Amino acid sequence: MSNLKAVRGTRDLLPPETALWNRIEATARRVFARYNFGEIRTPIFEDTALFSRSVGEETDIVSKEMYTFEDRARAQSEKTVSLTLRPENTAGVVRAYIEHKLGETGQLQKVYYIGPQFRRERPQKGRYRQFSQIGAEVIGPPPAGSESPIRDAEVLEMLATLLDELGISGWTLEINSVGSAADRARYNEVLRTALVSVAPGMCPDCQRRAVTNPLRVLDCKVPEDQPIIETLPKIVDSLDEASKAHFAAVLAALDAAQVPYTRNYRLVRGLDYYTRTTFEFTHGGLGAQNALLGGGRYDGLSEAIGGPKAPGIGFAMGEDRLVLTLQALEAAAQQKVDAYIAPLGENLNPAALALARELRRAGLSIDLGDGSFRLKKSFESADKTARRMVILGEDELQSGILTVKTFATGLQSKVNRAELATYLSTPASE
Ligand code: AMP
Repeated sequence: MSNLKAVRGTRDLLPPETALWNRIEATARRVFARYNFGEIRTPIFEDTALFSRSVGEETDIVSKEMYTFEDRARAQSEKTVSLTLRPENTAGVVRAYIEHKLGETGQLQKVYYIGPQFRRERPQKGRYRQFSQIGAEVIGPPPAGSESPIRDAEVLEMLATLLDELGISGWTLEINSVGSAADRARYNEVLRTALVSVAPGMCPDCQRRAVTNPLRVLDCKVPEDQPIIETLPKIVDSLDEASKAHFAAVLAALDAAQVPYTRNYRLVRGLDYYTRTTFEFTHGGLGAQNALLGGGRYDGLSEAIGGPKAPGIGFAMGEDRLVLTLQALEAAAQQKVDAYIAPLGENLNPAALALARELRRAGLSIDLGDGSFRLKKSFESADKTARRMVILGEDELQSGILTVKTFATGLQSKVNRAELATYLSTPASE
């Protein structure tokens, strides 16, 4: 047998798993199209300077994780250049935006990408050296309104929709604002001062960051450092009025669209180009590498790499992690019964038993609730043990039309009693 193997941190994707990758990509394309995003494909390698100027010299990505190589000159007319396999795609998209003068259209540019990225990280479950990201960016010259908080909220609402349509339930959206470049600079100094006395008691990485890039201390995962980090000043207190108002407007729009979120004051993200809104969607089923996706605003990125003013906002989802999450949810769903019947009131218990008998005889696995439970309690019990919940109230009994909730998608449907057994036996993700 050959001793040539896929390189550490890379892997082959084989059927049938590739079908799941294709389904995820097709769903993403469909949802992005509905929000009027078009696809962009940028090169896999770029000038190294693109990443050091955008992602930032002091970040883990640029300082230790990039696959960089010298591309030797082959002719007198050529120069030897330093190239890097892209560790992320936002820098490439913004470079393309500048290079093709997309800002001159005066229009908002809404693009998405799907493709491999490369980082020399320590491989573990959910973390690879070649991994795939699905991402999108909204960029434009100031008259196009790309700096508006409605853009942030729309992108976040799109992500909530995409995760729901993928069948990924149970996600959490964490959100923060890191303010304008000036706010961040001010906060960095506040942190630097606060760290002088406490950094000597922290991990070696934090001791270094306390001097080079204090903001990065907030990313530290070392358990012993956490109580110290909790005592540090919060970035929200360093935001100017405009950044505060922008953040409040993003949150108000999320509230109006009923997208749930939690505020996380420590969410500063690992790339230097972020300004104002930063966010992450996490999922409990992923274990240590629990971030499904991350993103935020980058109002100064275009200028940082020599382009015109072009505020923007975007995100990148780890496709590998979407696959892992869906596989875990699928495995958990297979342990569950087909449906839980929730009678609305004790007087409906006999009718519920009759319905359970009918469905069990049709070969389905059924858990039967109790009409004395409040609906909320029935929902909670059902979500733990069943793929779906059938609600049986007086109206449903009379009309023969039952309400069925599918937990994987969150969808609620009306189903005729005669078709109920067939409906309940179809996979919950369809
Ligand atoms: P980032 O570009 O660092 O903001 O990461 C965005 C998302 O990409 C993360 O939330 C992860 O889901 C995914 N991701 C980042 N690095 C890796 C990696 N080494 N392996 C797998 N997925 C990754």
